[in-house]
Amino acid sequence: MSSWASGAVNGGVSFWYADDGLPAVREPLSGDATADVVIVGGGYTGLWTAYYLKKSSPFLRITVLEQKFCGYGASGRNGGWLYNGVAGRDRYAKLRGREAAVRLQRAMNDTVDEVITVAAAEGIDADVHKGGVLEVATTPAQWARLRAFHEHEVSYGEQDRELFGARETAERIRVAYAVGSAWTPHGARVHPVKLVKGLAAIVAALGVTIHESTPVTQIRPKHAVTPYGTVRAPYVLRCTEGFTASLKGQRRTWLPMNSSMIATEPLTEAQWAAIGWAGRETLGDMAHAYMYAQRTADGRIALGGRGVPYRFGSRTDNDGRTQAATVEALREVLTRFFPALAGVRVEHAWSGVLGVPRDWCATVTLDRGTGLGWAGGYVGSGVATANLAARTLRDLVRQDSGQGGRTALTDLPWVDHRVRKWEPEPLRWLGVQGMYATYRTADRRERLRPDLRSSRLARVADRVSGRH
Ligand SMILES: Cc1cc2nc3c(=O)[nH]c(=O)nc-3n(C[C@H](O)[C@H](O)[C@H](O)COP(=O)(O)OP(=O)(O)OC[C@H]3O[C@@H](n4cnc5c(N)ncnc54)[C@H](O)[C@@H]3O)c2cc1C
Repeated sequence: MSSWASGAVNGGVSFWYADDGLPAVREPLSGDATADVVIVGGGYTGLWTAYYLKKSSPFLRITVLEQKFCGYGASGRNGGWLYNGVAGRDRYAKLRGREAAVRLQRAMNDTVDEVITVAAAEGIDADVHKGGVLEVATTPAQWARLRAFHEHEVSYGEQDRELFGARETAERIRVAYAVGSAWTPHGARVHPVKLVKGLAAIVAALGVTIHESTPVTQIRPKHAVTPYGTVRAPYVLRCTEGFTASLKGQRRTWLPMNSSMIATEPLTEAQWAAIGWAGRETLGDMAHAYMYAQRTADGRIALGGRGVPYRFGSRTDNDGRTQAATVEALREVLTRFFPALAGVRVEHAWSGVLGVPRDWCATVTLDRGTGLGWAGGYVGSGVATANLAARTLRDLVRQDSGQGGRTALTDLPWVDHRVRKWEPEPLRWLGVQGMYATYRTADRRERLRPDLRSSRLARVADRVSGRH
């Protein structure tokens, strides 16, 4: 059976835009300008930063410069897992001590509720459902990793997690071959585009200037340079995540890693009855090349995973168009999880880029000497993390400009973390292709050979890539 429904959409930025409509694009910059803070990039990071800065210091003149339209990047394309994961926590425990990493984790737990609370207070209806995060193991090796992961999380003070055996898992959701699962309450499903569009509207209404269709070609101290003029400001904050490589001098800073998704047609009541999933948890697995999914508010499954992970020379995007082989692979995951959905139509496929630093650690930094700041490198966990990063950037700017002092956020261990750049091509391309080919082989072996140990291959790939 072909995976594509006739009339299915490939690209078009994302299913979420097909669902909610593409936005009217705001006016581009029309010449040189000045501001107190200029923010490059109108995703969650840039918009939350504008939001919190303007709320705390209404007198600030803040300008957001966005190359296409707000939410064009990962913030308008993601899986809608608003959850408490943060890339690099374990490394920060090694670098800055366990207590600091526990503080980071607690801040992330609070951030999930912060986003939900602020969205509600601002009247943004983003289809939020806080059902927690459910991660399912479908092979013995995954189950061993999941139990180890669960214990590891508990050791960070995550006492409210739960571990379920096969029967309890099936009571929640009927995933084929599930041997167990782990659940945390710190997660919610969201509609990514409703969130980012709502946020952009609120930020504009607060008096922040947003210029869209305005690509920044170069950032230097106190300057954001575009083809239409330069915006000068004491603070220039780079919030460009997976697109960072397109800025002058930033080609090897964060690797643009692809993630791809499909959305099914709405399922019938009978299909939902066969699957369960009444709790609408965000759903993931423990494969090395893992999957993530959500039950959408209109009754579809949106499911993602790694397709073609990286394109030579850090190329990023063509409005989310996705290779046929990736669509097939994601559909194969869908029907492996839910064999009853073998005949279900895939109505949309799309891709986006995330930012991966050389050590896979998310960061927030403000360089005091130059006024240049940045936040990102969230790898695959940026929906909530961007909000914590934004509040931290606010505190750093307020501290540096004499409006505030140190805060609990400026003391978090991911602040001011620096890491070396990625290798030049072709090493970068070879490394990432090799890593994901290895993960796929490891996953296949673990499915075929039900011994308990995780594949050694995957552990080697993790070490070489800097991931663990
Ligand atoms: C397919 C996919 C699924 C994902 N699923 C999840 C998930 O379920 N949960 C989760 O936590 N995370 C997920 N992520 C990651 C998450 O979406 C991102 O980490 C998060 O949205 C990053 O927000 P951001 O604002 O930093 O970056 P982005 O949303 O990418 O925003 C950057 C913005 O900057 C603009 N820009 C870039 N360069 C320039 C320039 N030179 N000049 C002007 N503007 C520029 C871009 O157009 C873009 O709008 C996913 C990512 C992808 C791609």
